[in-house]
Amino acid sequence: MAQILDGNALSRRILAEVKAEAVEKRLDPGLAVIIVGDNPASRVYVDNKKKDCKKCGIRSEEFTLAVDAGEEKLLALIEELNNRPDIHGILVQLPLPPGYSQDKVIQSISPQKDVDAFHLFNVGRIFTGDYGFLPCTPAGVLRLLDEQGIELQGKHCVVVGHSNIVGKPMAMMFLNRNATVTICHVHTKDLKAQTLQADVLVVAVGKIGLITADMVKPGAVVVDVGINRTDSGICGDVDFEAVEKIAAYISPVPGGVGPMTRAMLMVNTLTAIKNLEGL
Ligand code: NAP
Repeated sequence: MAQILDGNALSRRILAEVKAEAVEKRLDPGLAVIIVGDNPASRVYVDNKKKDCKKCGIRSEEFTLAVDAGEEKLLALIEELNNRPDIHGILVQLPLPPGYSQDKVIQSISPQKDVDAFHLFNVGRIFTGDYGFLPCTPAGVLRLLDEQGIELQGKHCVVVGHSNIVGKPMAMMFLNRNATVTICHVHTKDLKAQTLQADVLVVAVGKIGLITADMVKPGAVVVDVGINRTDSGICGDVDFEAVEKIAAYISPVPGGVGPMTRAMLMVNTLTAIKNLEGL
């Protein structure tokens, strides 16, 4: 039976560590969270981020813009926040409504306050391994693996999904740890042939039941990033019950990568204030 990669427990510890470090160093980190429109899923995400801030002593300020506020107004707000010394992290909740250029908006955030690590400057740093901020989801996955002492050097890591925010940075972060990396996506010809090679398998697609037990090498480490909504709650992309029987480690959904992603945002906000204050 696989050992569970428990994101709930680890994330609670990380939040406590963030709080303790901020107190010890007498830091007062501030995170600005911008939400445009009234997308209910975005509302839930923003509320959860504000709760996490509260748990670890980070000041959060929410800025709500009407759906038709317009890109100019959003860019002006970001400019104002870029210049505010008491705000150390800026996050624009995605997706933005139609009519806003997501790319233009993200690139307008100061790279030093870009706690999602979506700005091209921070994306570029992932390639060199000279990390400023790491994107929260792959950073959370790495932390889950590190916590268990799972060695990556020389391992074959297979990443399923090649989005800019999860799959691609995840693959690069594994490469920076000297793993051999395979990236799979919707055009991959024989997914099973690839996943069976994996010592470490990370799945970030958003498709229920994509990874079945016959696609997993016995003893592999399986990290399920996928979030799929069903009538009975959320589930991942991996057939958890079957894969749990053959993997060495597996992350559950919920309770795996999700809480780790949220915790890494708090870590990045602490990193931002430390960097800005030259600590
Ligand atoms: P995304 O941008 O939609 O990317 C999905 C990726 O999966 C794409 O690279 C896509 O390839 C690939 N794909 C689609 N069908 C496939 C198939 N049958 N076989 C192999 N690859 C396939 O999504 P994302 O933002 O990366 O998120 C992926 C999943 O992770 C979603 O379920 C999302 O909700 C979840 N997520 C969870 C967290 C968390 O905190 N736990 C954070 C972020 C995302 P193409 O681009 O070629 O179509």
